Amino acid sequence: MVTLNDYTAIVGEEVVGQLYRLAEALGPRRFIHINSTRSGGGVAEILSRAVPLLNQLGLDTVWEVLQGDPDFFDVTKSFHNALQGQDVRVPQSLLDHYKEINRENARKFTWEADFVLVHDPQPAWLINEMRSQAKHWIWRCHIDVSRPNIKVWKFLQEIVSQYDASVFSMAQFAQNLPHPQYLIRPSIDPLSEKNRDLTPEEIQKVLDRLGIERDKPIILQVSRFDSFKDPLGVIQAFRMVRKHTPCKLVLAGGEATDDPEGPRTLAEVMEAAQGEPDIQVLLLPPDGHHEVNALQRAADIILQKSTREGFGLTVTEAMWKGKPVIGSAVGGIVLQLRDYSTGFLVNSPEGCAFRIRYLLHRPEMAKRMGKLAQEFVRQHFLITRTLRDYLTLLSLLENPGSQLIEL
Ligand code: UDP
Repeated sequence: MVTLNDYTAIVGEEVVGQLYRLAEALGPRRFIHINSTRSGGGVAEILSRAVPLLNQLGLDTVWEVLQGDPDFFDVTKSFHNALQGQDVRVPQSLLDHYKEINRENARKFTWEADFVLVHDPQPAWLINEMRSQAKHWIWRCHIDVSRPNIKVWKFLQEIVSQYDASVFSMAQFAQNLPHPQYLIRPSIDPLSEKNRDLTPEEIQKVLDRLGIERDKPIILQVSRFDSFKDPLGVIQAFRMVRKHTPCKLVLAGGEATDDPEGPRTLAEVMEAAQGEPDIQVLLLPPDGHHEVNALQRAADIILQKSTREGFGLTVTEAMWKGKPVIGSAVGGIVLQLRDYSTGFLVNSPEGCAFRIRYLLHRPEMAKRMGKLAQEFVRQHFLITRTLRDYLTLLSLLENPGSQLIEL
């Protein structure tokens, strides 16, 4: 089992020591996290790592998962799409269903807590059903809400306004809400199966198993099959590059139980990739962390061509592995990629193709970029920093209006 002390080798003793001090000052507290899937996507990824570590720090931390049915996930995926700017109409009957599923779940959640952190819109309604069961309610938004569909946001705004605080990943996502809003960047766990160091043999074994030859440079995008990740744009960019420079594209993705649109997007990707032997589309299992790790380490260039992105943990993961990353200049990707330094930002398939070729012809620069990227992640986007931010947030909520809080 990974312990907090194992992180000192990566972030230093002071960082880990500070976590213990913050937790001690807070004292024993019950801290509940609620989201809507145990696997698939960035939220589950972070929770699976942060919850055990918060327990090690002495907070009684529990991760609850809201149970829904296909209609429920259809409506919450519509919320997700609308918050990321799509023109979506949600019928009243489905809004009622959304509330009803939350009500059913609330009946099963019998705990009492000091803090509840509700992730994204799926479980947001719970506060209406069980306000008195926790002292502090916090809503954590992981979505790119820089330009939301106003009708759907109004519906959610009314719900979220009842919370004591909300958390967004960047300032551009902050909203008009009657409570304090905090900015907390997501992060990755360097000691997880997804990110730990792998030996060359371990990497090769995975490539052999997945049938990936290393005869040409590998361009990789790892993402759920979701149109916001723009896999078709990736294929378009790849075709432009391939006309001039030999390389292969690997599109690896899995499904999330709370995302019903995956199969449709996957079918579109398969169609677009048809007849192209240098494109490999891989459907990975939800627990394919080791495979993702090996693919990211085997890749020469990693892409994240999203059209909207709450943060983009896949970008962080790739940077941590010392890879040059080309990402769209949207959402949280711009917090991570600094043009010409920690990566490249692009705005179109053409721009993406240009940067792929640019890097393929400059291996030294690609290497330097990867090194800077890795150091940038060490400084800003490792799980120890998220833990510190959460502990600080809880302290602030416990001391409302205090002029002086000793952290
Ligand atoms: N992921 C995975 N397998 C896949 C696709 C994605 O394990 O087939 C992981 C990926 O490595 C990352 C997370 O799911 O840790 C995706 O987080 P991100 O913030 O990039 O996007 P989200 O899916 O939350 O929109």
